[in-house]
Amino acid sequence: MRTTLQFSLVGALLLSACGGSTAAAPNVLFIVTDTLRADRLGCYGSDAGLTPYLDQLAAEGLRFSDASSHAPWTLPSIASMLTSLHPAEHGAGGSLGGFKLMDPGVTTLPAVFKGRGWRTHAIANVAFLGEAFGTTRDFETTDIVAPTSNLEMRVAGATTQAALDWLDKRDERPFFLFVHYFDPHAVYAPPDPFRERFASGVDESFVFGTRQQMMDLRAGRLNVPDGVIRRAERLYNGEVAYMDAQIGRLLDGLSARGLDESTVVLVTADHGEEFLDHGGYEHGHTLYRELIHVPLILRYPGRIIPGVNTMSVAHVDLAPTLCELADIAPPEQFLGQSLLRSATGASDSEPRPILAHGNMWGEPLTSWRKGRYALIVGTGGRQELYDLESDPLQGRDLAQEMPDKVTELRRSLDRVQLALGALHKGQTLDLAPEVLESLKEFGYVGGE
Ligand SMILES: [Zn+2]
Repeated sequence: MRTTLQFSLVGALLLSACGGSTAAAPNVLFIVTDTLRADRLGCYGSDAGLTPYLDQLAAEGLRFSDASSHAPWTLPSIASMLTSLHPAEHGAGGSLGGFKLMDPGVTTLPAVFKGRGWRTHAIANVAFLGEAFGTTRDFETTDIVAPTSNLEMRVAGATTQAALDWLDKRDERPFFLFVHYFDPHAVYAPPDPFRERFASGVDESFVFGTRQQMMDLRAGRLNVPDGVIRRAERLYNGEVAYMDAQIGRLLDGLSARGLDESTVVLVTADHGEEFLDHGGYEHGHTLYRELIHVPLILRYPGRIIPGVNTMSVAHVDLAPTLCELADIAPPEQFLGQSLLRSATGASDSEPRPILAHGNMWGEPLTSWRKGRYALIVGTGGRQELYDLESDPLQGRDLAQEMPDKVTELRRSLDRVQLALGALHKGQTLDLAPEVLESLKEFGYVGGE
């Protein structure tokens, strides 16, 4: 049975600086799982048995039970991880009306590590992490596969193999390896035995989530019965289980190469997925918890005490954390706060607000989370308020009942947005035809 210590607001996190066997310049393995809802992991409460390897990692490391992304889709979310900035500040994002690349002036995490002597490499499986968007521009080398059909993507097995092959070619420098898995993203097509275990009986020929289907669904031309979504969800679960097994293979490979002790492992997801939780399907178009609540696990033997941290943290905190573990002073631009500081009580006792922004499918949305309350603001004055403590699934909008709370949160949100400057700062892209084709297949390019 796993034993973990439960930390609340203040919990011991770091072993003494001179204790343990960690190297002065640790390696970093930064794993981003696309489209992974936190609630699919056993360590986040699922009893479906999908993620034994991630659960094991969480038992060996520090799990953040209340971690949030800053956007409900890939491009702005991963750019926030790599810059410690909100989407409005790093610029990467936009919507189906036009994608925006990352501001060329912002400093990225790989640039910081590269500048301090780390060998940096990114393995990724979507065009948003390709050259056109600037997200991985500062890695020394990249291995980006952006297929033109999401049934022909590089699957987790091949992604893990690429990472292991790269590790075998490492040199004497410490490494910073970023690995992005795409498997749980629609279309869901898990291989056996995961299909058999988690989606047996689902029609073999059944595919839901192609570009045309998504467009038709969103335009109201396609009525998808609940049963179809539940079948899709079972296939999604199979993809999660398959990816988990391949992350396990990568972690075993790290161990077999004697790199466990000297490597910081960080796992998170760029966003979740919705299966009619709030009437929608897929991701990118709301800011509810099924899309914003993400897994976050940090393991660094000898330096980080295993346990669970319950503070509200967010993706802007990742880059400062990795800098601290590597003993690098973070650039001033980094807006987040090291998770190590959060956990040792060195941070403010007030819960820090968390901003999420973006909607690639419709009206711009902003969510402002402060402690137990989450405010979601749409255009035209639409506001929703949720109490995440009593209503974590956000089934009851309290905006009418608690107008004072809405006003209080709205005021602080307005102040922050003013401080962040103009939204939509990024430059709209003219994409190369092959990049456009790749995105279209995933339903990322709208409009007939
Ligand atoms: Zn994504």
